[in-house]
Amino acid sequence: MTSKGGEKMKDVGEEMAQQLRNRNWIKNYKELIDEAFADEEVRTFMAENQLTQAELARSASKVYEFVSIKRQIKNGEVTPAPGYQPQLVLSNHLIDVAYVPSDELIRSQKKAEIRARVRTLNMPKAIRNAQLADFDISGREEIAQAASDFIDAYTANPRKFIKGMYLQGSFGVGKTYLLGAIANGLAEEGFRSTMLHFPSFAVEVKSAIGSNNVMEKIDNIKKAPILMLDDIGADQLSSWLRDDVLGIILQYRMQEELPTFFSSNLSLQDLLTQYLTVNNRGEAEPLKARRIMERIVFLSKEYTMIGRNRRRS
Ligand code: ADP
Ligand code: MG
Repeated sequence: MTSKGGEKMKDVGEEMAQQLRNRNWIKNYKELIDEAFADEEVRTFMAENQLTQAELARSASKVYEFVSIKRQIKNGEVTPAPGYQPQLVLSNHLIDVAYVPSDELIRSQKKAEIRARVRTLNMPKAIRNAQLADFDISGREEIAQAASDFIDAYTANPRKFIKGMYLQGSFGVGKTYLLGAIANGLAEEGFRSTMLHFPSFAVEVKSAIGSNNVMEKIDNIKKAPILMLDDIGADQLSSWLRDDVLGIILQYRMQEELPTFFSSNLSLQDLLTQYLTVNNRGEAEPLKARRIMERIVFLSKEYTMIGRNRRRS
């Protein structure tokens, strides 16, 4: 057998043979086999397949393997192939044991697959479990609706451009949580997104200057099918970060019409005047700031998020 299950099956058979040898099996052989053949599932399988005595005798160790592994699972012991359930199968008139993934294993594999679709850079771990269903909507119905509309529209046609959301609101109201919930919702529908804490990304890019992979870092981000820039406006921007990092990312996304989300403590208006306009040397660059703002406005719609501060400290 060439399947993964097949390999597992061989491993387990090997293990069983070893166990039988170790247990002074000649003495106990009959007892063990009788016990194995008394198993209800084994009896049903035998009856259904009308096996001859000779066939049963040749398959004894397989039946024993099946019953032993079943018992180990029942007792909560670690089996040679954790997460796999033994199943009796007929192969060339002989009984064999196939190992099929348990429902629990399938569920956890599916969950891991969904998780892997959300790429995060410097994001809090808690957003992994963020769910739109848990987002408390009182006073924020419009935002919750927009978030679920986005997921529906994107799922219906990922190639059609849809504006993302610019979530503004004070500290702790759940902006980051909502971005996480949207990313997780999209992941469940099979779509990949990238979420990054923008101030940390800015520091990383800055420290990569000279190491030659600045462009690579930026390219990697700008091409994300769905991009979420968290906490934009929380740091101080240099002209370089604004024009050659943020500007390049947003320019590309605008050209390619790639959905982009933002969260910020600042309104769009304040982002323009307090964050984008004045560079870290204190010089005002209103035209360049306006150009970035145009891209943000093209890419997203502004929502003001109200609510209590959910952070404990
Ligand atoms: P913001 O980004 O607006 O500052 P966060 O999204 O970080 O706020 O939320 C603040 C805290 O509250 C975080 O610990 C977050 O996990 C938690 N939180 C926010 N919204 C919810 C929610 N609907 N259900 C459970 N926890 C939430
Ligand atoms: Mg946040």
